[in-house]
Amino acid sequence: MDPKKAKNLDKLTREQLAALRDKVTEVPFSGELLNNRLSGMYSCAGCGTQLFLSDDKFESGTGWPSFDQAIEGRVKQVTDNSHDMERIEVVCANCGAHLGHIFEDVPISKTGKYYCINSVCLNFTAQDTK
Ligand SMILES: [Zn+2]
Repeated sequence: MDPKKAKNLDKLTREQLAALRDKVTEVPFSGELLNNRLSGMYSCAGCGTQLFLSDDKFESGTGWPSFDQAIEGRVKQVTDNSHDMERIEVVCANCGAHLGHIFEDVPISKTGKYYCINSVCLNFTAQDTK
């Protein structure tokens, strides 16, 4: 995470910093946005970059907010070999904050890709219904 680009850094909670900066996965089923079904936009809690659309959110049953796809170019994938597993980490393309992981060939996702994202790493803005 690049502290110069993460302009919200001084507003983050300890839990958000732990996830965004230190890559600590939040406790499953704890996230406020897990069951959010409102239409709107999910953005990076670190820098505000818009990352995911509510239309791409789905119920995975894993306990973390789950998306079929990210907005093009807004996230980057990084190989993560921590915890003796080979996983692909998803980070914000702008500030480099940790967001979660991506898994491939997941049948419940309409794209086959499954973005498993920490709720604390996201801010949600409801769609303007005017
Ligand atoms: Zn960011």
